[in-house]
Amino acid sequence: MSDTHTPSKLTRVPGLDVLPQSLAESDGLEFGLAMSNSKCRLVVLVAPGSTRLASFEGSSTSYENGLTLLIGPTSSRNLAALRAHLPWLYPQTLGLRTSVGTGDRLGLATRGHVRALRAAGGNLAPILAQQSIREMERTGRDPQQVMEDAAWGVFAEGWRGGFGADADHLKTVDDIDLCVAAGYTFFTFDPGEHVDNSPANADLTALQAAVERLPWAQLEDSAEVMSERYLMRSFEFEDHEVSIDERVLYEAAAKYGRAVAHVAALYRHLAQAAERRDFEVEISVDETETPTTHAQHVYIASELQRLGVRWVSLAPRYIGRFEKGVDYIGDVDEFETDFAVHAAIARRFGPYKLSLHSGSDKFSIYPAAVRQTRGLVHLKTAGTSYLEALRTIAAFDPELFRRVYAFSRAHYETDRASYHVSASLGRAPSPEDVDDADLPALLDQFDAREILHVTFGSVLTEGSSDRERRFYDRVMGTLRTHSDVYAANLEAHLLRHMRPFTENTAAGSLPRRRV
Ligand code: ZN
Repeated sequence: MSDTHTPSKLTRVPGLDVLPQSLAESDGLEFGLAMSNSKCRLVVLVAPGSTRLASFEGSSTSYENGLTLLIGPTSSRNLAALRAHLPWLYPQTLGLRTSVGTGDRLGLATRGHVRALRAAGGNLAPILAQQSIREMERTGRDPQQVMEDAAWGVFAEGWRGGFGADADHLKTVDDIDLCVAAGYTFFTFDPGEHVDNSPANADLTALQAAVERLPWAQLEDSAEVMSERYLMRSFEFEDHEVSIDERVLYEAAAKYGRAVAHVAALYRHLAQAAERRDFEVEISVDETETPTTHAQHVYIASELQRLGVRWVSLAPRYIGRFEKGVDYIGDVDEFETDFAVHAAIARRFGPYKLSLHSGSDKFSIYPAAVRQTRGLVHLKTAGTSYLEALRTIAAFDPELFRRVYAFSRAHYETDRASYHVSASLGRAPSPEDVDDADLPALLDQFDAREILHVTFGSVLTEGSSDRERRFYDRVMGTLRTHSDVYAANLEAHLLRHMRPFTENTAAGSLPRRRV
């Protein structure tokens, strides 16, 4: 840990409710976050005669012994000024450390995320700013705001262990530019729209035709040369052999060839846009229809490598079902057997981490994931923190929660379209059948949970056209008023996610299973 001899002058200022963990000192200034009327304010105390307050905004008053006290908003300008003194408020690259991403749709969850991280112990690297462009559109937030909300949360909790910022599911170069400008360090490329799911059922002639149509110039390749690379050799990954014959190769190329070309283009754009700044890349094809076979994983990794792409983690589409906010659906042993080969391939071609997207609440597979990757794994969660927000609402404002639930039910059939979920309205309890005291338990019922999970965008933007966000203001107000309970709920829930990753990686010698 860094030098954290606690400054104390700020805590003695009368009438100022400073969060003790937020206290920091640098360059003769003291910094903290103070709560007033459920709002956070930045407070800075500076020695007599200093001109260092100039970069901050807020109102300054003189305090005892010639000190000046500034109280200002948690604004972009104040964060920029603060970062000049406290560089740990900038996100950074995390490399191959075992990592967990905690998306936050509301911008209030980082404090709970950090508490879970501290409770989990170990050397888990957090990605605390993380949101996809799709989710930003659905919540009316932009990359800058997502980043700043996380950074203020990091400041509030005094987390100096470093954190990443994931620009998640990027699909275009414009998405990249927005996120580079906002200072993101981790870029998740999603070429899912360029994945062709039809080859699995096609005959060889149709496959050959599909391969002919690939963008060969972009791939800097030809069908003949590609075939020579793959068909004259065998692929062994530790104890696993992956065989690639013509049909298997053509299926992989027809399915993922365009996606590979798209990722290479995004990567080159990013490398240029980032200039000399550090960045790391994840590639995700998790939101596609059919599982990524081992041969297809080999194809993706070796083609991207040939095109000069470097990445720190990859999210194939695994077998079984990774539905939003609920445990893995499928046979856990089969998952481990299949996943073991993906992990061996990742060690060979990287090593890089395997990434678990829609990774929240998949408690049954975490041990296998850590065991098989030997800790080279990234867990990505997001909506599950929104569900903990709703759990908090259900306890403090049952009437609001009941309305949100009824509203979510009404929007589920539309909103589910872009997510992997199987909840049915018929199996989810009707709001009128649930007593107030039992409302929080809806968060533990499979169907209600998925329904609430995928409808966040509709809930948070409902009524925003007439500038009266019907739910948003009340949801945020309740969470701010009960911020400690919300943080405690998040801590308990995220700790369940993080523990399997710290316990098993710290051990070093894991109980290995034969698969
Ligand atoms: Zn994903």
